Amino acid sequence: MNVYDSARMADVLAPLGYAVVDDAAAADMVILNTCHIREKAAEKVYSDLGRVRQLKAAKEKRGGRMIVAVAGCVAQAEGAEILARAPFVDMVFGPQTYHRLPEMVARAHRAGEKVLDTEFPAEPKFDFLPGEASHARAAGAGAAYLTVQEGCDKFCTFCVVPYTRGAEYSRPVAGVVAEAGRLAALGAREITLLGQNVNNYHGEGPGGVEWGLGRLIAELAAIAGLERIRYTTSYPADMDDGLIAAHRDVAKLMPFLHLPVQSGSDRILKAMNRRHTAGDYRRLAARLRDARPDIALSSDFIVGFPGETEADFAETLALVDAIGFAQAYSFKYSPRPGTPAAAIGEQVPDAVKGERLARLQEKLNAQQRAFNHGAVGRVMDVLLERPGRDPGQLVGRSPFMQAVHTEAPASALGSLVPLRITAAHANSLAGVAAADARTALADVRASA
Ligand code: SAH
Repeated sequence: MNVYDSARMADVLAPLGYAVVDDAAAADMVILNTCHIREKAAEKVYSDLGRVRQLKAAKEKRGGRMIVAVAGCVAQAEGAEILARAPFVDMVFGPQTYHRLPEMVARAHRAGEKVLDTEFPAEPKFDFLPGEASHARAAGAGAAYLTVQEGCDKFCTFCVVPYTRGAEYSRPVAGVVAEAGRLAALGAREITLLGQNVNNYHGEGPGGVEWGLGRLIAELAAIAGLERIRYTTSYPADMDDGLIAAHRDVAKLMPFLHLPVQSGSDRILKAMNRRHTAGDYRRLAARLRDARPDIALSSDFIVGFPGETEADFAETLALVDAIGFAQAYSFKYSPRPGTPAAAIGEQVPDAVKGERLARLQEKLNAQQRAFNHGAVGRVMDVLLERPGRDPGQLVGRSPFMQAVHTEAPASALGSLVPLRITAAHANSLAGVAAADARTALADVRASA
């Protein structure tokens, strides 16, 4: 979501004459768009600011100016504290106010004021973001993000999101469809719909009727040129029948779902204020697989939540065995300021967290390797998204989100090509152009 927000900030700033550059040293403005989800992400902000401070000082020595801004969830959470700790920062603004950037820049630039805006404005920023142009930078590579839902009302006891992104909000259908159409016209072949609880999308549709995410996806699938739809991140208890049916009925909806479970212990899930049990999650996975037999599942795990015992952790390992994940993210529990879990007395020692994380990751990595090896010999459509490390190489995504490396000219960037998978590694695949696109597609269908 920060990638999307950053692109939108660039859109808002474009009419003021700003354009994105690769080198911060020469920039007239540097915006750090920050994440507060775990302590490590938040800490990075101050070390990065140290570097930016030197760039700003060097530029001023040369007689230039540089506006330094901290945006995003660390800005939202720490606000004025950032200005106090890093006085060379000019602007601090949260994730819900960046549509006001022109006004903020005017104040900072012309009046030399310090700007602090961590409000949750009544007006949704989406109503004020430029319609035309561009987060074309994303579309240029064939894959684009589109935020459809923001904020969270779930209040998982470990999580800062409700405090930093605010209450749940779903964008109206019309704005989403228009933005998706523009992205497709700019070359996006794939759109990933974003939201903190994207599957709880309930935007206002035509005639004031509320639409769920399944219906929105079916509507977006009608956009010409758009070939792939994904969505992330989903809250298990909010997977409704319509969305599960979309996995069966909408061919453009990719067979990959990131569905964070966090833990396999019902006791811990309850303490986390999750609204699902391990059994619910297993049944949900089964229903998804009924709807779309080849669907690949991904998840998030937190180990060492306060009070987690070895027996609780064993239930997490058992759930992983039962489901079989194509990939996953796993983290040590990180106490976040202001969240209920941070105040629980029984924190798990870091060494125990580290040891459990290693065991969990060993299992998850083995599942991911097995999943990747299953792709060898198959032909898959791959959307080529970015240059690889070696010259002449491009990297794309399989339908199942696997990174695929292949030899291809730069002109193929942004295109969807059938590749025969020739090798599998821990985190990626290698593929070669499939001789005949038609046999290739038939092959994919046969193995699906
Ligand atoms: N809406 C999603 C969560 C997205 S937040 C859901 O309901 O599951 C991204 C991930 O960061 C979470 O899934 C969680 O695994 C991790 N995370 C959030 N807070 C954390 C914390 N305090 N410590 C460690 N990991 C955390």
